Amino acid sequence: PIYADFASSAPPLPEVVDAMMEWLGGSHANPHADHLPGHRAARAIDDARQHIGDLLDADPDGVIFTSGATESNNLALKGLAGNCIGGLYFSSLDHSSIVEVAHHLAETGQCRVGRLQHDAQGSISPAAVKSALTTGRGRALVALAHGNNEIGTIQVLSEIGAAISGEGHLFHVDASQTAAHVPISVQDMRISTLSISGHKLYGPAGIGALWLDPTLKTELSPLLHGGGQQGGVRSGTVPTYLAVGLGVAARLARDRMGQARAHLQAMASQFIGALASHGISPVVIGHPSDRLPGHLSVRFPGAGAPDLLARLLPLLAVSSGAACSAGELRASRVLRALGLDEETASEGLRISFGRSTTAKEVAQAAEYMSDAVREVLDSI
Ligand code: PLP
Repeated sequence: PIYADFASSAPPLPEVVDAMMEWLGGSHANPHADHLPGHRAARAIDDARQHIGDLLDADPDGVIFTSGATESNNLALKGLAGNCIGGLYFSSLDHSSIVEVAHHLAETGQCRVGRLQHDAQGSISPAAVKSALTTGRGRALVALAHGNNEIGTIQVLSEIGAAISGEGHLFHVDASQTAAHVPISVQDMRISTLSISGHKLYGPAGIGALWLDPTLKTELSPLLHGGGQQGGVRSGTVPTYLAVGLGVAARLARDRMGQARAHLQAMASQFIGALASHGISPVVIGHPSDRLPGHLSVRFPGAGAPDLLARLLPLLAVSSGAACSAGELRASRVLRALGLDEETASEGLRISFGRSTTAKEVAQAAEYMSDAVREVLDSI
């Protein structure tokens, strides 16, 4: 099938794979060991930290390698919540690695939590953040995804960051979906901690990073205790080949961002245009312009996503937010939180193109999609 699920996982670029191979072979050594091969591995990891710092306009000393953005979000939220008596504020639209952590912290009485209001397109305004923070009970932690994985809406962070940090609160950003596509400056956006994920950045799966303002290192309680690697913030041997791969992915993301974004935007508009030429016009979910490039969150009124996916299975790899639990299909919690009713929400589909997507694939994908929509609507 044609792969159009890059928001779920983007394959590592060839340059990333090449760079990793050296560290899977002859150069292998424990980067924390005090011998020359170990020092060489440690230097390669430091280079990767520098590339990640450059991508985020951040001090590379704050880069902590983790197993992925799920762990990075857990580390930031669980690690800092205990010191945030003002509470943790999050959005219902965010990834489960923020939402479920917030629920856990609230249920176990570790932290007071509150939700940030969003509009029907999934945007969170600086005013909504300010009004959530007016309780004045002390330092709070605000956690927010920069780009929404499901609906593609991008939050405009500078003003939000200023509202949060200006009052002395902490600001955690989940940049898993944006780091490859949208310029980020932790300085300008006044960010305290930020998560990225290797496999959303055309790097390897199984690694991510948490950037944290170096002044927070001593405050953050670690999730993992052990050998005290990475300044004690995250014990465990750093996997050199994965860190090197993430570093190269970060460097290439920065070097090619403008070009990649233009390509992705062109692919998405070609897809919508091709559907229209087949007489099909989807309803776009999320923000019409502040959105991830190449990412389409759509619904075809009257056609349920599970029926469409069943027809598309051998042809086109796309995703729906609907989840099957205990044999029952439940519509996406994110689309429900946007205000869509159960039936409308169960029509939501995500199509996400990538850097390697070709115009030919997009034309074919639009044809498959139009045929599937017509078949489903005809079968009702
Ligand atoms: N946050 C967002 C916004 C995501 O899209 C994802 C991946 O689906 C994650 C966090 C989790 O990333 P990982 O797979 O690296 O744990």
